[in-house]
Amino acid sequence: MSALILDGKSLAKKTEAELSNRVTALKQANKGQAPILATILVGSDPASGTYVKMKQNACKRIGMESIAVELSEQTTTEQLLAKINELNANPNCHGILLQHPVPAQIDERACFDAIAAEKDVDGVTCLGFGRMAMNEPAYGSATPQGIMRILEAYDIELSGKHAVVVGRSPILGKPMALMLLNANATVTICHSRTQDLPSLIKQADILVGAVGRPEFIKAEWIKDGAVVVDAGYHPGGLGDIELEPIINSATAYTPVPGGVGPMTINTLILQCVMAAEKKLV
Ligand code: NAP
Repeated sequence: MSALILDGKSLAKKTEAELSNRVTALKQANKGQAPILATILVGSDPASGTYVKMKQNACKRIGMESIAVELSEQTTTEQLLAKINELNANPNCHGILLQHPVPAQIDERACFDAIAAEKDVDGVTCLGFGRMAMNEPAYGSATPQGIMRILEAYDIELSGKHAVVVGRSPILGKPMALMLLNANATVTICHSRTQDLPSLIKQADILVGAVGRPEFIKAEWIKDGAVVVDAGYHPGGLGDIELEPIINSATAYTPVPGGVGPMTINTLILQCVMAAEKKLV
């Protein structure tokens, strides 16, 4: 039997329709004032530029507005911090997205952590991470939160399951592992120093690939019946997992493209609408 496709693209589309209604209601109750996301792009990396554009377009589709901040490749940490503080103080800005990665001379962690908690709609601050980890209200890191939303939408059972997360980055693997733990999965986190990765992956009921290397995780390492989530996206439409051979042996999988990617952007705009609702209504 072929695996269930965890279709992030259509789930994001459906959620956008609901979000449009929420934005319309907000505008009606607040003299036309729309939720506003500030996007900050530092430098000229073309991929980052594309991601920011996609996020601004998603805002537009649901009737939100965005403030586009573009800073040069030479920007210093101090200059970026000053811009973030200005947006923190701007009552017309409800959420802040600082596009990762920033140029190497910038202290990215300091800049992420300067974002006010109530505007951290991309879920990048240490405070937000800590609150999420403790199961307190917080905006989740957008990609893993989007993955949790897709698993929930498709009623994927997590409690008591063995989840294996490959990758431990601050924006993806690490928060992903904590979110799965909070959902009562038993979690193994793998990284570049992990020994015998294939045997750990073989134990996964739920597998999340967040490695950043095209098709690094081989189909033969994955047990039959696993739920397979591929966070990777590379040129040519490849993910971090060799997906093609498992479409008949897995229980469910996220396609690349059309799985995790659309849910990341959708989670960002959802969380920005939530932030605006707290301020405006
Ligand atoms: P990252 O910061 O480069 O982290 C990669 C992680 O993989 C690190 O924790 C690293 O371990 C681990 N790793 C590297 N080589 C490994 C190996 N041989 N065995 C096991 N683990 C290994 O990447 P990221 O930002 O988390 O992104 C991961 C993937 O998700 C990428 O493909 C990226 O394009 C994709 N992504 C997608 C979205 C989306 O919206 N769809 C958003 C963000 C990222 P160490 O910690 O030991 O170095």
